[in-house]
Amino acid sequence: MSFLKQINPFESALKQFDKAASILKLSKSQIAMIKVPRRITEVNLPVRMDDGSIQIFQGFRVQHSIVRGPAKGGIRFHPDVTVDEVKALAFWMTYKCAVVGVPFGGGKGGVVCNPAELSRAELENLSRRYFAEMSDLFSPDSDIPAPDVNTNPQIMSWMFDTYSMHKKQYLPGVITGKPLELGGSAGRSEATAQGMVFCVEEATEHLGIDLKNASIAIQGFGNAGSFAASLLRADGAKIVAISDVSGAYYNPKGLDIEAAFETCRSNKNWVLKGYENKTSCEKLDDPMKLLELDVDILIPAALENQITEENADQVKAKIVAECANGPVTPEADDILDKNNIFIIPDILCNAGGVTVSYLEWVQNRMGYYWEKERINQDLEHIMKKSFDQVLETAQINNVNMRIAAFIFSIERVTKAAELRGLYA
Ligand code: NAD
Repeated sequence: MSFLKQINPFESALKQFDKAASILKLSKSQIAMIKVPRRITEVNLPVRMDDGSIQIFQGFRVQHSIVRGPAKGGIRFHPDVTVDEVKALAFWMTYKCAVVGVPFGGGKGGVVCNPAELSRAELENLSRRYFAEMSDLFSPDSDIPAPDVNTNPQIMSWMFDTYSMHKKQYLPGVITGKPLELGGSAGRSEATAQGMVFCVEEATEHLGIDLKNASIAIQGFGNAGSFAASLLRADGAKIVAISDVSGAYYNPKGLDIEAAFETCRSNKNWVLKGYENKTSCEKLDDPMKLLELDVDILIPAALENQITEENADQVKAKIVAECANGPVTPEADDILDKNNIFIIPDILCNAGGVTVSYLEWVQNRMGYYWEKERINQDLEHIMKKSFDQVLETAQINNVNMRIAAFIFSIERVTKAAELRGLYA
């Protein structure tokens, strides 16, 4: 774990950028306009705790780019979140929005806290304080947050309410990932996983793998990972391993996914703790071994830096579908590439979340709401088209899917930056 901590995700993100920029032969001026974050805001948030004491929490918001539209990106609550992690996540948002062609730039937020140790009232106080403190940055036309690790529709509701009360207007377009009752979109909860599934359908077809009989391991069982498991199970695939902070669970014959949901529902804080006692499976001694299982498809859906130069050679999957942001380091990328493992890169693979966030924002601005069927049709069209465009870019340039996704998106951001000129 100490080795993992030393990897700076922002430096990793810039290495990915540099590889693609060198193929595109961008000038120094072009690179200067689109590489580094435009604005980094750091705040210390005083919050009243249940015992009457005041605790200070550190919070960040990074706006990486506003060239193609308002900054867009989630807010992460995590004890280990750092400004470099948030910078990397904001950077990936810029290029993710460009890959799928939604008219947003890139942003991300973070608060250093452990939500599992906070009461509901403390979590609400912290969420509202963060949003109030940053309210000059946020608006439906300048910077639009969303959920990320450890934040959810309830937290989005508190943040939306704080902003609307400050501005004395009903402004649901300031944040996405809200519950349906407050202007959320049908299909948003499962959108990240659903977008990944559309990419996996394209990738398996391209590689001649039968998805209905494929074996799958998923790291992380939160928003992205749990919906990934249930959607792929519904597609007929066999989920042989799942994991979360409580450990990793494995059955080569296939896991009972409904029992996993029941376990999470019965535990506080949505964890799989005790799953091995409810169904037939083995709890792995080392949860990281999930990444090395002999499966067709591996889906990292937890945090960054999980596949590194230390374990990349042990990965046996044919496809790595990056539901998480930054789960593979640049050094590991080279090893997976050498071993002919097909990576669906994060900025494409998990873009379903921001795509449906975009549809939510559009619906908020119209005040008119679409059925889930319409949302899923749009999502499928956007994801499959984007996948095909990235695959074509990979074939034309003879590069892997990650570099191709960056080439494709950097071209879009560069063009917009040049059209706008120096002010943006
Ligand atoms: P979440 O908080 O809902 O779930 C995170 C999951 O990862 C939990 O099950 C947690 O227990 C597990 N986890 C944490 N550390 C772990 C470890 N060391 N090993 C195994 N499991 C571990 O978060 P989420 O929204 O599902 O986000 C997961 C990833 O997907 C993140 O990288 C996030 O940036 C990315 N993502 C999420 C969205 C979205 O819409 N939620 C969109 C795009 C990308």
